[in-house]
Amino acid sequence: MRCFAALSMTGLDLSCSFEPCLKSRKYLNYMTDQRTSETTFAIATLGCKVNQADSEAISEQMSAAGFAQCDFNDTADIYIVNTCTVTHMGDRSSRQMISQARRRRPDALLVVTGCYAEINPQGVAALPGVDLVIGNSIKESLVDSINTQLKASPITSLHTEEDSDPLKTKAQKPLLAVLHVDDQHIGSDSSLPLVGVDEEPQPENPSQISQISDLSTLSTAAHSRLLTRTRVQMKVQDGCNNRCTYCIVPYVRGGSRSRSIQSVVEHVQRKTKAGFQEIVLTGIHLGDYHPDNDKKRDLGDLIAALLHDTEIRRIRVSSLEPEDFRLEWLELWENPRMCRHLHLPMQSGSDRILRRMARRYNSERYHNIVTTAKQLVPGIAISTDIITGFPGESDNDFEQTYLLARELQFAKAHIFRFSPRLGTAAARMQGQVKEEIKKARSERLLALNDQDVRRFRQQFLGETVQVLLESYKHGRWEGLTDNYLRVEVDGLTDSTNQNWQNTLISARLIQLVDDGVLGVMVET
Ligand code: SF4
Repeated sequence: MRCFAALSMTGLDLSCSFEPCLKSRKYLNYMTDQRTSETTFAIATLGCKVNQADSEAISEQMSAAGFAQCDFNDTADIYIVNTCTVTHMGDRSSRQMISQARRRRPDALLVVTGCYAEINPQGVAALPGVDLVIGNSIKESLVDSINTQLKASPITSLHTEEDSDPLKTKAQKPLLAVLHVDDQHIGSDSSLPLVGVDEEPQPENPSQISQISDLSTLSTAAHSRLLTRTRVQMKVQDGCNNRCTYCIVPYVRGGSRSRSIQSVVEHVQRKTKAGFQEIVLTGIHLGDYHPDNDKKRDLGDLIAALLHDTEIRRIRVSSLEPEDFRLEWLELWENPRMCRHLHLPMQSGSDRILRRMARRYNSERYHNIVTTAKQLVPGIAISTDIITGFPGESDNDFEQTYLLARELQFAKAHIFRFSPRLGTAAARMQGQVKEEIKKARSERLLALNDQDVRRFRQQFLGETVQVLLESYKHGRWEGLTDNYLRVEVDGLTDSTNQNWQNTLISARLIQLVDDGVLGVMVET
């Protein structure tokens, strides 16, 4: 029997009786009152930097509540999967992580949150093993929800007779609190049934739009980022008021809202004291940052306050929409604490296609921002996202994209084949482009990107740069420059025994390696 408890948008409303659930409840071998520091949790994060920032916040809140974090690959008492739904690939990867958690420890409490949970709560709740579904709108109360869940579910033993078969699915067991959000969004596909993991047909080359960084590496990479004390993602803005026709994000993240400058400054001061060297300002629509308590101020004011009122060594800004970018902000980059890296999603070089995408800039504005930034901030890395095969994209439209990309010579371009996302306007548009055409266009841009990436790195050979060391791999310490060069460093004394993590060093760049640059440490 399934037990659905309604969660209001503002918090838990345990409107159903939990009594039937308790008879076969399994999970944890403790009650909240008896919790010890051994009670562990693990988080898997899919999707964008905002989701990563959310996971970092959840991690902090869970730790403050007395839970101990462990790696997602380890056996944990509580698994939290912070999902993504930006493409079908995001949905699928989310289901895979849920399935992995269930297999790793069938009797753990399995909590699912994030965008996929927001848009399809009932479908997610029906997945085997899922105990608790928390939408984005109540993500901030996730720890409270977990505690409420645990209080409502006193556990007598870790493995009951019923649970002795680890492959027994939760479909045979009660489901616990589930967020009901009926009719939540126009375009929501919440009523769609879910098929089993890996059964959903996937595009040949799954597209990802701007918010996705690299789904294939997220589960562990994002998690390990949570455990390093080098860089912290900080969400200063959430939601989006735009309606780009290919994007599902506004439907799962709601309208734009921003934290106050004062609260961000205080947060960064705390992080600096805790030893972080770099802060990454993130948001779903970061350029639309306008503090809720003072809408006249913008991202430039926030950065100026951080430079003035905190001592954080590096400030990095994540993706900015070209429509928001103000050229006068570039003056802030005169301060060496500002990382010389801008991610400006271009999406297309054709104004006709940009209009069909409902993007709020044209190719001329885009060109102007990039060329001005390169002029005023020497060495700046400009990265971008480009979608190929958007509905209606002709050969001529694509040629305009290619020529603009070739002229602007991006330090890195993420190329995505358009993949219709159910619930978006673009999925219903006429003129869907054939897969083989999308593929050919993507391949041309990828080849261009390979050249440009190499050229960008090559120009710094012979220079001495600052590298913030993060990890030790294959016999060398490596880290990032402010302009996003990955540097492997030779010549660090006692590198196997000394922990250089979170140290800023000077290195002279001597040759290209794989996707980075080899450097030797120099005394300064
Ligand atoms: S600006 Fe466009 S692409 Fe970015 S989150 Fe908003 S709707 Fe999506």
